[in-house]
Amino acid sequence: MKVTKIRWMRIEGLDEHGFGGQSRSTGVLIVRVDTDEGLYGLGEVQDFLGVRDAIDNIREILTGADPLAIQPFVTAMLYGRMPHNNFPISHTMSPTATAVGPIVWAVSGVEMALCDLAGKAFNTPVYNLLGGKYRDRILIYADRSCPHDIANLEEWRELACAARDDGFRVIKFDLDVTAFDHTEDEWNRAIPLRQLNKIVQRLTAVREAVGWDVELTVDGHMHYDVRDSIRLANALADLKLMWLEDPTPIVNPDALARVRDKSPIAICAGEMFITEQFRLFVDRGALDIVHPDVLFSGGLHETKKIADYADQHYIPLALHNNGGALATIAAAHVAAASRNFLGLECHFLGSKFLEDFIDRGIPLFDNGHVRLTNKPGLGLELNVDVCKKHMVAGELLV
Ligand code: MG
Repeated sequence: MKVTKIRWMRIEGLDEHGFGGQSRSTGVLIVRVDTDEGLYGLGEVQDFLGVRDAIDNIREILTGADPLAIQPFVTAMLYGRMPHNNFPISHTMSPTATAVGPIVWAVSGVEMALCDLAGKAFNTPVYNLLGGKYRDRILIYADRSCPHDIANLEEWRELACAARDDGFRVIKFDLDVTAFDHTEDEWNRAIPLRQLNKIVQRLTAVREAVGWDVELTVDGHMHYDVRDSIRLANALADLKLMWLEDPTPIVNPDALARVRDKSPIAICAGEMFITEQFRLFVDRGALDIVHPDVLFSGGLHETKKIADYADQHYIPLALHNNGGALATIAAAHVAAASRNFLGLECHFLGSKFLEDFIDRGIPLFDNGHVRLTNKPGLGLELNVDVCKKHMVAGELLV
């Protein structure tokens, strides 16, 4: 079997999730890999700057290649290979000579499509290609960011209780927008006491509204300095938060380890990391929870490596995910096959087109979980009507 075509399309619509609950446009790229035997696979890519060029590059490299050689493809693209007579010299390094950015994001989505294709070729679900399933109900954690009017405590309560009443047992909010009306200096990475007090007040309203059996987490979006990350963690300690996510900028494991040393809340980080970066942060003692994303790590197999490395250190796995339903299902296959799985993020509640552009024959969510089926591959098809309605660029992939 050989790869014959790699195509993509962009679908776009309203994002009801984002900053302050305001509507804005959002979209994803869907990738399809076709073969000379009629089998094809589907993947999803975040449409960040440079990824379309990266997919063009991958098309040149993969056309004519064996689609089942998934790990050699990912390894070559991220880390290169030794010079050899059989290969052009330009392919001995990754296309950007560094395993970060657009090439990793494009590889991640194409790898997702190759996993779907391989599952269909072997007539088995993708979780079986990753070692088999520990579970087939995957706990979803709902990212709710913040309400439209952050100064209105009733809106905080309503947002949290609505997610709880929809069946979600883990709910996340974004610290940086919780009290942005009290930011005093937008550059210095500090949280002034007045702002800290507002963050505590608003999240306390959430905790009191949803009760003490619902897990709550908070995301710092990599904004804060070490001192105020620690002060923030201590101020929020009584709320029994499940984790504090990305309190400091992401590139310094020593700074995050200093926060972790003094934080009464578990530290979770790594949503944009590849395997090498997780190794560095785990080895430095900077993480209580690893938080990879199948869209940014290099794909499903790389994410499984991260999960297993963490598990060897008895560190649990949460899966970051701000993609659409296709990426959510792909991540759910990794969750099924990872012993240390805690929860998988869902970011697009309220943006129905991102839920509806795939069809699995069952609803996406089932009481706060995704239920995996035993269909081959990722177990999904495109919903052509939704894709046609929301398609803005590329080629209709049917
Ligand atoms: Mg985050």
